[in-house]
Amino acid sequence: MNVSSPVSDPDTVADVIVVGAGPAGSTLATHLARAGVDVLLLEKSTFPREKVCGDGLTPRGVKQVLALGIDVSGPDWIKNKGLRVIGGGTSLELPWPVLQEFPDFGLVRPRRDFDDMLATLAVKAGARLRVATTVKEPIRDERTGRIVGVTAKTADGPVQFRAPLVLACDGVSARVAVGMGINKREDRPIGVAVRRYYKSPARTHDDYLESHLELWDRSNADKPALLPGYGWIFGLGDGTVNVGLGMLNSSKAFGRTDYRALLRRWLDGTPEEWGLREENAIGSIGGAGLPMGFNRTPHYADGLMLVGDAAGAVNPFNGEGIAYAMESAALAAEAVLQAQGRPDGPSREAALHGYTTAMKEHLGAYYRLGGIFSGLIGKPAVMKTATRLGLPRKDLMYLVLKVLAGLYDSRGGDWADRVTRALVKAAPSV
Ligand SMILES: Cc1cc2nc3c(=O)[nH]c(=O)nc-3n(C[C@H](O)[C@H](O)[C@H](O)COP(=O)(O)OP(=O)(O)OC[C@H]3O[C@@H](n4cnc5c(N)ncnc54)[C@H](O)[C@@H]3O)c2cc1C
Repeated sequence: MNVSSPVSDPDTVADVIVVGAGPAGSTLATHLARAGVDVLLLEKSTFPREKVCGDGLTPRGVKQVLALGIDVSGPDWIKNKGLRVIGGGTSLELPWPVLQEFPDFGLVRPRRDFDDMLATLAVKAGARLRVATTVKEPIRDERTGRIVGVTAKTADGPVQFRAPLVLACDGVSARVAVGMGINKREDRPIGVAVRRYYKSPARTHDDYLESHLELWDRSNADKPALLPGYGWIFGLGDGTVNVGLGMLNSSKAFGRTDYRALLRRWLDGTPEEWGLREENAIGSIGGAGLPMGFNRTPHYADGLMLVGDAAGAVNPFNGEGIAYAMESAALAAEAVLQAQGRPDGPSREAALHGYTTAMKEHLGAYYRLGGIFSGLIGKPAVMKTATRLGLPRKDLMYLVLKVLAGLYDSRGGDWADRVTRALVKAAPSV
């Protein structure tokens, strides 16, 4: 490739390059820049931009937002107090648990604002953000094979950016990782999800995140048909809602379904007064993959760290990804800072490998358990039985919420925290 920018150009050289300014990249850039690291943050789009997402944060995500010192008291943040689960003819409201390690409220905020706000925070912290910069491939040291930078397409033509460490936060496409030969693991779960915004004054204000365990096609009133997948309706508080559905690869219908048509079939059967009809739709239906359960490893090798979706860090229990993108970013920042303080050589390299170990210790066993769970819930018979038997039992659902949303204390807590910890402990770490 014919590229401009000599290595000495300070605009294209940094201590670290972060590829992608989503929640993972901006969080990581903020942590590092605050600690005085010179960070180049390369982002292919320009802000504000859309990101296909449900826009929902459980308390696990809120904790990461608070950890950055962000004030969530303003009107832009729509607070919720729990999860409403609908299925098997039952609707159950489960308040977020009171815990030492997580707040007891969730948030909703469109990613168009959320990601813009996080990227602005990174810039305020001192990161050098370059938008409209699409990273194409890694640059490798011919002798060692290590990554020493990336080439990118910019408005001024191709540019080389150089740094001894590259942090791949480029989402599910994981272009940099693929360029370094780190491919998807087939033994880990993966999902797909679609979403659309609707005008819905009836549903826009909701104290709960609403989750539908069953999606019904009611086009034939005499014979409603159960559709594959799980849905959500999240009120945005401004007259609109974010509605979507997801499916796991353990489902027979995975990869053989028109997900957009599926969303319409489900929504056409929801109550008329909710307004989830074509004439109230805002924009088109967007969809993307959900890389789960660490489906891309190793998380560190040859000067490249994988963070967030690029690391396959979506929770296989519930498809939540923002919290884990930000948690993995915090762990990556810790490892990078330890490495920066050590002289070049084996000790520095060991600190960087510490990220892989930290990710395993933090989520490995929990995600392994989630992999087993996701395999089971893809089977309609298992799901149907679990829904009918489980939903009416409030105690059991309190436990299920803790397990599925990863909302338990790692020390102390109540009986459900202890049971959750025991389950996680019994699963082998991955
Ligand atoms: C339909 C749907 C609904 C979802 N709902 C929720 C939800 O409600 N709550 C939740 O917690 N999670 C949800 N998720 C998951 C969540 O969206 C992701 O897990 C999360 O965005 C991961 O953050 P990230 O920073 O790792 O990646 P991303 O958010 O994907 O950010 C990656 C960034 O990198 C940039 N980029 C990509 N390639 C390049 C390149 N080559 N060069 C430069 N820049 C590049 C992108 O433009 C982007 O800004 C949902 C996902 C889908 C598909």
